Amino acid sequence: MTDNIDTNNPSDGLSYGTFPITILSDGSVVVYDLAELILPVLRKLLQDDSILRKQLCVVHKPKLVTAKKVLTMQIETIKRLMISCEICERRCGVNRLNGERGFCELGETLRVGAYANLYNEGCGMGSPAFSVFAAGCSMRCDYCYRNEFLQTEQFEVMQPETLAVLLDKAAENGSTCWHFLGGNPDQSILPILTALSLTKQTLPVVWNTAFTMTPQTIQVLREVVDIWVPDIKFGNNNCAKKIAKFDNYWNIVKRNIKLIQNEKQVYVRIPKLPKHETCCQKLIKEFLKSCSLQFVENEVVTIGKASQHKR
Ligand code: SF4
Repeated sequence: MTDNIDTNNPSDGLSYGTFPITILSDGSVVVYDLAELILPVLRKLLQDDSILRKQLCVVHKPKLVTAKKVLTMQIETIKRLMISCEICERRCGVNRLNGERGFCELGETLRVGAYANLYNEGCGMGSPAFSVFAAGCSMRCDYCYRNEFLQTEQFEVMQPETLAVLLDKAAENGSTCWHFLGGNPDQSILPILTALSLTKQTLPVVWNTAFTMTPQTIQVLREVVDIWVPDIKFGNNNCAKKIAKFDNYWNIVKRNIKLIQNEKQVYVRIPKLPKHETCCQKLIKEFLKSCSLQFVENEVVTIGKASQHKR
């Protein structure tokens, strides 16, 4: 329902004087920038009331409006993290600025698997969401259905200047946000931030992430990301190790959730991996509820080895 709202046009419905609420003809309620004051209450309501959850859309000014001034500093911070790479918790320690490659197989450049406008993505994005699929990932999940994005070398390098032009065009053509996903966009944070610093337009930035980044990377991303969409796959370390070959996953994810739980817009996606309802999905949901965070569950097509895993 909220996908039909023109978030750039607050007059798209009945406005209530100076009070920043708009009620649309279909009964949806749009709340403009009430921010910290009532968001904790709204989060609680959203958690408890599925009807309200469908009808409420909170609109904020994109962080980039002010963040552009500090982007140069953030870009320098990321470059420092890539000299002995600790962008994500693989902590490969390679110098990606010097052509060395770690687990993700990426250097300092962006390789784009695809880009397109996506419709009805949900998670507060509006529609269409201009979506950039960055190749490369910190995970190797047996059930990954976007395996092709892991073969980074098969995709052309895209320079930040080129990406900035694409982002600007998307904004001019009515896209509601800039949506980065993959693979995993975390590994390509440097060229993406550089592109954002070059854009002339400003849209909300959506970060759909495997959520295995280090706290230093999160700190930088918090300056520019408006909507966080972490994919949380496993609710314990053993399943993550067995299926995604990732150590200490659940502890890292819980720590990262704590680091962003007070951000204005966080929508966690939980893939419904078969046979992992109790060991993973149940525990993830319990943890998110304890943090008053929203989540959506995604059906998963298991095309890899995961469907064969026995618990
Ligand atoms: S981004 Fe992560 S996986 Fe890639 S080199 Fe750095 S630490 Fe390793």
